[in-house]
Amino acid sequence: MAAPPPSPAELLRQLIRFDTTNPPGDEGPCLAHLLGLFDGLDVHCRMLESPAGRPNLVVRVPGRGEAPPMLMQGHVDVVTTAGQGWTHPPFGGDLVDGWVWGRGALDMKGGVATMTSAVLRCLDRGEPPAGDVVLCCLADEEAGGVHGAQFLIERHPELFAGVTHGIGEGGATTQHMNGRAFYPIMVAEKRACRLRVTLRGPGGHASRSQRGGTMARLGELLQALDRRRLPVHVTPVAAAYVQGIAAVCGEPHRSRLLALLDPRRTDAALDRMGEDASRFDSILHHTVNATIARAGEKINVIPSTATVELDGRMLPGFEPEDFVAEVRAIAPARVPAWWRRGAVSSMSCSARSCASSSRPPSRCRC
Ligand SMILES: [Zn+2]
Repeated sequence: MAAPPPSPAELLRQLIRFDTTNPPGDEGPCLAHLLGLFDGLDVHCRMLESPAGRPNLVVRVPGRGEAPPMLMQGHVDVVTTAGQGWTHPPFGGDLVDGWVWGRGALDMKGGVATMTSAVLRCLDRGEPPAGDVVLCCLADEEAGGVHGAQFLIERHPELFAGVTHGIGEGGATTQHMNGRAFYPIMVAEKRACRLRVTLRGPGGHASRSQRGGTMARLGELLQALDRRRLPVHVTPVAAAYVQGIAAVCGEPHRSRLLALLDPRRTDAALDRMGEDASRFDSILHHTVNATIARAGEKINVIPSTATVELDGRMLPGFEPEDFVAEVRAIAPARVPAWWRRGAVSSMSCSARSCASSSRPPSRCRC
């Protein structure tokens, strides 16, 4: 029989201490630790490796067969901490004043620790759940999921046969508003649409005066992206979410929340909302953020090209063409002109459903 399992908080601290920064991920030791928690228990555990050797842990708890299987899925890889200032060591798992600190505490070793603890508690009670519970602890989510979720779905679809409900990364996190706690349920997910914009302008020797060159255009584009939101879209799912919260709030909170659902008033309502705005802003707009900019190689040479990579996220029900049209529209007035003149020579889109994704970037309709 396995030793008593750690508490969810203690398990989270243990998981944080595995540096699973992706790339390269190196999720094996972390997943092996999770696997060890199930030693001797009446479950079916498999460690499934992608062709590149990236492991994924799948634990199946037999149920009573009275309900469809339920999926619980989380990932153990984390994003980089390079170049960031941390109050506590990112891989220390420190417990300070009742809070666990570390990379992945939120995204999403906290979720993995909670799900794993729930499964262990269920097993400890000795009462099988109504249906099978499938716990997937995945690799490679932060770099696209090729070696994790995508690998399992393509190579082991039988794992998910009959599954109708799942708990994943989104939702199931407590949200506090107006003195009440809310427990949202995730029913949809935004899709990524990553863009690369290449700006071109006159290059030359940096000893000569130059205005309006590639670097200036780069600055204008970045500032425009920073200043303006993309247009409002009130999807049925977002409307139901806001209405559900508003229904249990008193005035004036209720009216302020419902104003979010009127596209003419949405952005002004968000601006007045303070910290709470962030949770609503991104479900009412596509979002786009510049994350990587490259220009210039030498200190004394004015570059003739600059590239900006944009991390875009599309609301459910939209396609890359819709999204890219909106990004073009908020770019500074001069940028569309650059596009027309070919100064923006390429814009490639990485959304998986993008019809243009298989074309060379220079021909991408996006
Ligand atoms: Zn995540």
